[in-house]
Amino acid sequence: MDSQTLMMLSEQYIAHTYNRYPLLLVRGKGTRVWDLDGKEYLDFFAGLAVCNLGHCHPKVVKAIQDQAEKLIHVSNLYYIEPQIQLASLLCKHSFAGKVFFCNSGAEANEGALKLARKYAKEKIGEDRYEVITMENSFHGRTLATLTATAQKKYHKGYGPLMPGFKYVPFNDLKAVRQAIDPKTCAVLLEPIQGEGGVNIPSEGYLKGLREICDEKGILLILDEVQVGMGRTGKLFAYEHEDMKPDLLTVAKSLAGGVPIGALLIRDEIAKSFEPGDHASTFGGNPLATAAGVAALSAILEEGMLDHCRRVGEYFLSRLEEIKKKFPFVQDVRGRGLILGMELKIEGAEIVKKMMEKGFLINCTAGNVLRFLPPLIVTEEEVDQMIKALEETFEKLQTSSTNNQISSNSQ
Ligand SMILES: *Cc1c(COP(=O)(O)O)cnc(C)c1O
Repeated sequence: MDSQTLMMLSEQYIAHTYNRYPLLLVRGKGTRVWDLDGKEYLDFFAGLAVCNLGHCHPKVVKAIQDQAEKLIHVSNLYYIEPQIQLASLLCKHSFAGKVFFCNSGAEANEGALKLARKYAKEKIGEDRYEVITMENSFHGRTLATLTATAQKKYHKGYGPLMPGFKYVPFNDLKAVRQAIDPKTCAVLLEPIQGEGGVNIPSEGYLKGLREICDEKGILLILDEVQVGMGRTGKLFAYEHEDMKPDLLTVAKSLAGGVPIGALLIRDEIAKSFEPGDHASTFGGNPLATAAGVAALSAILEEGMLDHCRRVGEYFLSRLEEIKKKFPFVQDVRGRGLILGMELKIEGAEIVKKMMEKGFLINCTAGNVLRFLPPLIVTEEEVDQMIKALEETFEKLQTSSTNNQISSNSQ
């Protein structure tokens, strides 16, 4: 079937929860993807920070193939070999003592919220259930994580929302301190806000939150669904600051593209989850966790973190050059290979123009171009993308100057 027919069938049969670009991708390798007609694209979106290792990383593909031939699924009523391996690896390389596996970011956050409430009831006080989250955050689409997501546009139509959430501005320690009351059990945040516009807090913010939470005896939960697994140049974003969370969620890129989620838990808190308290049929299944072991091993063994930091710095410097040339660029920011370019104009048209030129980029929060390439992206590939972006901006500037001249002369 040709791509036009397929896109028509998609509109006919698939619920319209997404506004899709007219693009149907069928193949990927490393930093590149191809559409049905064979056109090649350089991928600076990586399936929304999922394909951190690049598309179809050979070790992940091999692990999936081998595992699929051996055993695809058994119940969590039995021990699962690759699940044990992945949990061991995650604990060895983080603050965590235990891991709960699930299938998505929202589900991991849901688990974190449930565990925080249960732990708080048992250890902090019977009436402690409230969670403080940050404005412009994103934590998922289930009812609890949607409520944790402090953005009105996502709440519309779904009331009544879950009780027990309170919102404060991001990067504001004083606001958190003031919001804590006798009902508060935890603070939940993304160490860098992804969907909210690549918002990077000031140095010392996470450490400051840790101190406040310790002082008040409440939990600190980090949502690293987007920025975990190497995206910032460290395996976890919290490693950039001298602090450790109590709970941390990962998902997106954990299994190199196979659906998975995980809740990492400080050992002492894990005791509040007892048999029967929480579960997931597919959570930690052999296929996903085998892919996870391969993906995590590749990140650790193939020098991807150093590469990510180096190319990330280069990428940011190139974005800064562009900012100097175009007055409609408000700000550029990033850490490792999550980078944002805030514009004074809407970004959607730019994303379309870049797609026509063979580059997949993203725009979030309306006016922030977001770049999330695979961690294996090279400086040459960054240069190619920057060149295309510069050309797109030049065209935009010329046409807007022309518009201005014509509107001035009226
Ligand atoms: C994508 C994302 C989620 C939700 O993950 P899903 O797998 O779509 O449920 C949660 N938190 C953050 C920070 C994310 O970027």
